[in-house]
Amino acid sequence: MSKRKLNDYIKILGREEIKEIKKFGDYLSGCSIQHINSTRVGGGVAEILENLIPLMREVGLSAKWSVLEGTQEFYNVTKAFHNALHGQDIEITPEMFDIYIENNKRNYKLIDNDEDFIVLHDPQPLSLIEKRKKNKTKWVWRCHIDLSEADIRLWGMLRMYVEKADGAVFHLPEYAKGLYIDQYIIPPAIDPLSDKNRELPDEVINETIEKFNIDKNRPIILQVSRFDRLKDPVGVIEVFKIVKRWHNCQLVLAGGAASDDPEGEKVLNEVRERSEGDPDIHILNLPPDSHIEINALQRAATIVLQKSVREGFGLVVTEAMWKGKPVIGGAVGGIQRQIIHGETGFLTQTIEGTAFRVRQLLGNPGLANRLGRQGKEYVRSNFLLPTYLKNWILLLLSLKHPERGIINLG
Ligand code: UDP
Repeated sequence: MSKRKLNDYIKILGREEIKEIKKFGDYLSGCSIQHINSTRVGGGVAEILENLIPLMREVGLSAKWSVLEGTQEFYNVTKAFHNALHGQDIEITPEMFDIYIENNKRNYKLIDNDEDFIVLHDPQPLSLIEKRKKNKTKWVWRCHIDLSEADIRLWGMLRMYVEKADGAVFHLPEYAKGLYIDQYIIPPAIDPLSDKNRELPDEVINETIEKFNIDKNRPIILQVSRFDRLKDPVGVIEVFKIVKRWHNCQLVLAGGAASDDPEGEKVLNEVRERSEGDPDIHILNLPPDSHIEINALQRAATIVLQKSVREGFGLVVTEAMWKGKPVIGGAVGGIQRQIIHGETGFLTQTIEGTAFRVRQLLGNPGLANRLGRQGKEYVRSNFLLPTYLKNWILLLLSLKHPERGIINLG
């Protein structure tokens, strides 16, 4: 777990903000909270819990993190749930639902009914809520995925569990559903002090660039993301081909290893084919712990693209904006929550439109700097870990005092 303290963030967010978070935290002092998710490592949920839980403890909450144990069959089912909730056309059979429920029953022992708060993350542990008792414990479902096009039948079943909670939390207002319980919107956040985001010495940035044979004297256009069609890496290559007619620049497509994902492997091959051995296109297939490499690539980039055609939130956009880079993103999902067109970056819909914006920024470094600077400040005010902690504290306070119309935080 992260050893960082709230005071370490004073230099980023200011003394007053950190003082306020601690003051709000005092109202919860002595309360206990249990987070339950389905994995301790890998993925955004684990990453955020790893960083959030020590800070929750620091403000006085007794915070615990429990992880589901599941069979391979269970994870296959929850992966199918995940895809269906993202809008893919997948048949969810009654047998799959039985596997889901049975596996969660075997995890009932995880639940500590003495807790003040229990937070279930995503659909995997959701049916643990069947074990809810009529006592003081407040239950929250934290949804990290975009449910706006969720499979109706599956959502209809999961919804029965969701409505047994006291509140549901989503990234964006568009992802909220028609529910009989209170819904809260909390966007995710990045940790500015983690290896992925902390400041790096120039030598580390230069060494990384050299290691990947990238020329540091020519502009670098970068997209970091899994090799997934929804991130449109092939579209990014088409954009680059247009831009290259006018500018002597390079493209870096950095993504995760795709060996366990047949679809990812296929997309990676397509991307390689499309780049047709162009020495100015660098396709980097990085291991999952390449945090410093990604940080260095983002810092070395001239322009960052995130040409997604669908996106839950898009933490890579947040990461690049935090590094003061001008970002051009697809006008979808959470990217639109982060990029204010013409102010903190550019939103685009097509290959031609994206190429136009890349050319505009390459030809106008002053504009690129302004967007980068404003983007960084926007992230500072909205999407950094201490703010995320503050939002959680306020949410828990409102659950703790449901009977009170006025909560005095003064
Ligand atoms: N990421 C990474 N290695 C890769 C590709 C992505 O570590 O090869 C990280 C990236 O820096 C970001 C996260 O994975 O922190 C991706 O989050 P995002 O919300 O952008 O997209 P998702 O992959 O969750 O759809």
